[in-house]
Amino acid sequence: MTKRTKQRCKNPAAYGCSSCRMHGAHKSRNVLRGVNHPKYRNGERTRESEEQRRKSSAILLTLRDIGDHVNLFNGDYTRGRKPTGYVKYDMNDPEQLFFAILNVSKLSS
Ligand SMILES: [Zn+2]
Repeated sequence: MTKRTKQRCKNPAAYGCSSCRMHGAHKSRNVLRGVNHPKYRNGERTRESEEQRRKSSAILLTLRDIGDHVNLFNGDYTRGRKPTGYVKYDMNDPEQLFFAILNVSKLSS
């Protein structure tokens, strides 16, 4: 029922609910997740695997930063967007360098 006209809403029911999308149907509560979702194919791009990839990318980039600081590499810097969770440390500051090494060893274990 609509509040304004007191008549039944004519919108179609949405997301597997008995009401329409404007009157209380919630997609987020009813959508199937993970293996139960009809579009699920494999576990390649699950939230867990993406989180894992994000983590290892951040570790690799921090290792690259440390390597750059001690002139381990020659050549261009790595290209592309920085992964979420990556923190840029100032390697000239010994304390920041310590935190970088600590983070890498903590995240990779
Ligand atoms: Zn409605």
